Amino acid sequence: MNEPVDHPVNWLAASTRPYAKNAYLIVFLMVFLCGVVTCLALYHEEKQHILADERIAGEQFVTQLKDALNSYGKEIVSLSVMLQAIDEPLTYQVFKRASEQYESTEKNASLRLFFSQYVPAYHRNDYLEQQRSLVGQSGFTITPAGERAEYLPLTFGYPFLSHPGFDTLSDEAVNLAGLKRLRTQKSLEMSPPLSSTVDGKVQSLDKFALRYPVYLPLDNLNGRITDERGFYGVVGVVFDVSGLKAQLATQSERNFSYRLAEVTHDPQHPVWFADSSQHDNIHPNHEIYWRPGTYHSQVVHFAGCNWRVDTRYSATLISMVNWGLILSAFIVFSVLAVLLSAYVRMLSNAYNQTLRLAKDQIEVDELTGLFSRYKIQRELDEAIEDCQQKNFKLATFFLDLDCFKTINDAFGHETGDKLLIKVAQRLKSVFPDEAIIGRLGGDEFLVLLALREHEKSIYLEGLCREVILQISQSYFIDGRTLNIGCSIGVALHPNYGLNAETLVKNADMAMYEAKTAGRGTYYFYDEEMGARLSRNVRIETRLRQALQEDVLQLYFQPKVDLKTQKCVGLEALLRWDDSELGRVSPAEFIPVAEQTGIILTLGEWVIERACKHIVEWREEGVQVPPVAVNCSAAQLKRPNFLSHILSLLDKYKVDPSMLEIEVTESMLIEDAESCAELLRQVSQLGMKLAIDDFGTGYSSLSYLKDLPFDYVKIDQVFIHDIMEDNDHDVLTRAIINLSHELNLKVIAEGITRPDQLERLKGYGCDVGQGYLFSEALGANSMASDPMIMALCEQSRSASHQDKD
Ligand code: C2E
Ligand code: MG
Ligand code: MG
Repeated sequence: MNEPVDHPVNWLAASTRPYAKNAYLIVFLMVFLCGVVTCLALYHEEKQHILADERIAGEQFVTQLKDALNSYGKEIVSLSVMLQAIDEPLTYQVFKRASEQYESTEKNASLRLFFSQYVPAYHRNDYLEQQRSLVGQSGFTITPAGERAEYLPLTFGYPFLSHPGFDTLSDEAVNLAGLKRLRTQKSLEMSPPLSSTVDGKVQSLDKFALRYPVYLPLDNLNGRITDERGFYGVVGVVFDVSGLKAQLATQSERNFSYRLAEVTHDPQHPVWFADSSQHDNIHPNHEIYWRPGTYHSQVVHFAGCNWRVDTRYSATLISMVNWGLILSAFIVFSVLAVLLSAYVRMLSNAYNQTLRLAKDQIEVDELTGLFSRYKIQRELDEAIEDCQQKNFKLATFFLDLDCFKTINDAFGHETGDKLLIKVAQRLKSVFPDEAIIGRLGGDEFLVLLALREHEKSIYLEGLCREVILQISQSYFIDGRTLNIGCSIGVALHPNYGLNAETLVKNADMAMYEAKTAGRGTYYFYDEEMGARLSRNVRIETRLRQALQEDVLQLYFQPKVDLKTQKCVGLEALLRWDDSELGRVSPAEFIPVAEQTGIILTLGEWVIERACKHIVEWREEGVQVPPVAVNCSAAQLKRPNFLSHILSLLDKYKVDPSMLEIEVTESMLIEDAESCAELLRQVSQLGMKLAIDDFGTGYSSLSYLKDLPFDYVKIDQVFIHDIMEDNDHDVLTRAIINLSHELNLKVIAEGITRPDQLERLKGYGCDVGQGYLFSEALGANSMASDPMIMALCEQSRSASHQDKD
């Protein structure tokens, strides 16, 4: 036996699972990426900030440099003018007094002034003597030694003089050319960078001297020695670039480097004056440190030359960046990414679980545990595909329980549900394990079974019989024993349905055939059934049309009293000549009308038309016996059936005794209880009732006993071979005798031969109907029919006798 179906299905999951599964990863990557982008943005911002700071610091440095140079220049020119104005020989005291006015200020920090006096060769000894006595340095001499035409030794310095006596016109003095230019042009002149000797190594200092000539008026020399143009010497000041940088460093948090070059003549090959990076040992590799793009350059014009000043922060950008902020952002985003992805994972797990539950609910029939309607249809699609690939046949079983509604109505839905569960269990036990079983809803089941090569229709028929047998076994539910049958329709793929929809439709039709054939059986859908059903569809369409166009006709077949040979009644029978289908028998179209519900309109039309004809005949003076109309179950079930008949009788002023009702046995089987009351009311109105086609159905004698019938109509199949078939002969006699016992009259249908008539007369049958007497006649031919004419004659003579 199969276990309750718990088959996880993939369509819902297939469409959502990949996203749901990776959602947390996607969230993690997105947030993490946001973090990375934020960090990059912060880094960029920080970099821009540092570069802006760097540029500002450089600009400040250059501004200060310019200010300082201008200030030094002015002071040195002013000192020169002052020395010019003194009209006595220059002594150290005089020089000191003059220099003291230029005490160090913010702009000229650590001011060092000096004076080199012009000494022609003839005055050399006097100069030396004078210096030795004035300064008190007995060893004072002019260096480097050597005989020269003129000397310009460093004579005084304030606050001190580092190399007294050094001849700035000697060959060892640098920039002799500059000095000579200074002497002729009388303008400020910048010396090359000063140097010092440490441990025997000459080291360039970030210092240079700013020099200016002192000229005396030739007419007022006062014993002072000049050259022929009045050149008396040179005043100078030592300019310290690193001092400036030290000042600036106090204003800026970050240290920076500078380098200074004279670029007047050849900007490509500048003359380097100062370079803080070399002195501070910031970077041993000068090329890398001053790589293009890593520093800012500005050009300053001073002392007749162009000076390029390069500045940059000493440290690398990486080391200056505020990594704390960037790192914090990175950590925050990383933590956020982890937390969010964990949360999303939790949500997606819950989502997946909900999906799984939803899927189970969609796919499994809650009551029976079989596949749901939705799922079995999917399974059918897959099974068709599978069988097509493997070249198998697929049997689709459509099962419907017989009269399940009765059990539901009688014992309640709870009992009905329990019964369905048990039926499902039995289905699972009867069908092979590989069968796919689902419940379509209500009491309908669909079973799919792929057939292997050797499994032919005999096997399927055996299976159907077994299923019907097993389902029909008694059930014990809530202390009751219940019985139910089932009808099965089978459609085979690919023969009778290539797709799921057609297969189910055909199996359903076959099941319906099984129901029509009396339930508790099975039918296989085949071409003939298909053709019949499609004809039925046509019949349905045309019948609706016929009703609208009023092309149906009512014919009347006489019923004859077998003793008197007189016509005692007429049966109204429908006749339909369709322009497309030709003549269609009521035996064919009445079942279609019943299945489609058209019978309700049709039935009303028949009763009204019968009443109409009765009135017409009366008006024509044609004497007719009561007219019997056939009524279907659906008509009788209508709540307004009786009131409708009454309103028609009233409308046409027809006596109820003129109308008889024929109902088939089969409809009583369906709903005897509810019919009983209605039939009683009909009978009380004075309308006669006949039970039609008796003997073909279940022939329950209790109907005859309990219900107010007047006539029993023995079905024509018995009369047809009453002479040949002993069983039918015996049955006919038994029905006649029994009916008489119950005070019912018997009508024999379908009498075609005199011998049949004689046999029936012999059995005491009351009334006969059949082609032997007359076929059904059109309403117009009634007046000329001999039997009706005889009736008319009889009634006329009777009325004459009354008058006489
Ligand atoms: P039914 O009520 O048993 O009607 C008798 C059927 O037997 C009629 O067939 C009639 O033409 C036919 N018949 C009469 N005498 C003979 C005979 O000697 N030999 C043979 N072989 N047949 C004979 P019809 O008219 O084709 O009607 C068939 C069935 O259609 C009726 O059976 C009835 O059940 C149904 N039907 C006809 N008209 C109506 C109607 O207006 N309403 C309803 N609900 N059913 C109708
Ligand atoms: Mg009938
Ligand atoms: Mg009949």
